Amino acid sequence: MGQWLEGKPVADGIREQVKVEVARCREASGKVPGLVGVLIGDNPASQSYLRMKEKACQNLGLFGQIQYWPADIARLDLKARLEALNADDRIDGILVQLPLPKGQDTQEVISWIDPAKDVDGIHPISLGRLVQNQPCLSACTPRGCLELIRSTGTSIEGKNVVIVGRSLIVGKPLSLMITNENGTVTICHSKTRDLAGVCARADILVAAMGKPGFIGPEFVKEGAVVIDVGSNAVADKDIVRRLFGADPKRESEIDTKGYTWVGDVQPKVIDKAAWMTPSPGGVGPLTIAMLMRNTLDAFRRRHGV
Ligand code: NDP
Repeated sequence: MGQWLEGKPVADGIREQVKVEVARCREASGKVPGLVGVLIGDNPASQSYLRMKEKACQNLGLFGQIQYWPADIARLDLKARLEALNADDRIDGILVQLPLPKGQDTQEVISWIDPAKDVDGIHPISLGRLVQNQPCLSACTPRGCLELIRSTGTSIEGKNVVIVGRSLIVGKPLSLMITNENGTVTICHSKTRDLAGVCARADILVAAMGKPGFIGPEFVKEGAVVIDVGSNAVADKDIVRRLFGADPKRESEIDTKGYTWVGDVQPKVIDKAAWMTPSPGGVGPLTIAMLMRNTLDAFRRRHGV
């Protein structure tokens, strides 16, 4: 049986470092890093993610603000508002919470953010710099996955790393980061053949699919490091029973909240893995910690502090 790789202790270490460095920046320059999170429309999950990010800013001494823009905001108005944030010297990081409402062109909207303030690391210039292995602001969740892998003492160099999922925010940037760290990467998606066979060759397996409990023990090599990025709201008690057996806590969560959070990896995979992140409680805390780190890095580069 492997060990659970909890995100909180790793995230707490990063947050503590950021807090100290933010205080130093304030002393040196009289300024603090500033992050604006933009919510377009009123997606409740996006709202709660942004509130967590705003709270993290407050706790670490950064300036954090959420701006609420209407779902049907006109294209040019949206562009003008982002340009105003780009020009605002107090703001170092701009985060447009995804997904955008129907009708908004995500790639176009992201391209309007100043790459120097692209703390989500998904502007084409940020991704291009990552491809070139140049210093850049890079996506927070993949950075968090790397921190978690490193925290186990596992070296990435020369390892077979399989990533299931090829999104712009998780799978693709992570594949580049691992390549830059000299890992040997296989990136899988919905058209991959013999997914279980490919995954079972991985020394390090990362699941970022958005499919509750899809990855079972047959996908996992004995002694692998398993990172479960998946975070899925499940309302069906039968699915919960199939994954966790009798779990009164999760079932009562469904009764009170209407859903419980579940990863892409079945909990019993811990019996085969050397390390495995829980979900929730694994990758999630790292995503927010790395966003704080990226905002601090953006501040430093912009102000030369
Ligand atoms: P996307 O929906 O953008 O991408 C999912 C990927 O998984 C796609 O590449 C898709 O393939 C692949 N996929 C889906 N089904 C299968 C399958 N049956 N076999 C193989 N591949 C499959 O999701 P995201 O990357 O945005 O998110 C993935 C998960 O991670 C979600 O649960 C999300 O909530 C979570 N997440 C968690 C974060 C955190 O901080 N904890 C942050 C970001 C995401 P194809 O490209 O062919 O469609």
